[in-house]
Amino acid sequence: MKDLFCFKCKKPLPPGSLKYIITISIIADFDGVLPESDDLTDRELENLIKEIMKSNPKKVEHDVYHTMAFLVCKKCKDQFLKDPLHIGEAKIKKVKESSGIVH
Ligand SMILES: [Zn+2]
Repeated sequence: MKDLFCFKCKKPLPPGSLKYIITISIIADFDGVLPESDDLTDRELENLIKEIMKSNPKKVEHDVYHTMAFLVCKKCKDQFLKDPLHIGEAKIKKVKESSGIVH
């Protein structure tokens, strides 16, 4: 069996040890509103569609939906939970109080 390590602090995670998988899903949020633009002509719209069709499908997919997974130790999991976006624990507390977090 391959030796496992915490992705963040590199601590060894031997079989049977407490370890966690942090999965991050980044999903483009669409609120159903398309900004209106009177400046966009049919020709420009056509060109825009052509550009999208020529784009690398992997890149387009990456821009819309992306997941990552990291194996970490308990200490790093706890640290991550305290401030997943690195905005400071005080701000996280404020956001939680104003229910700006989905979960
Ligand atoms: Zn760790």
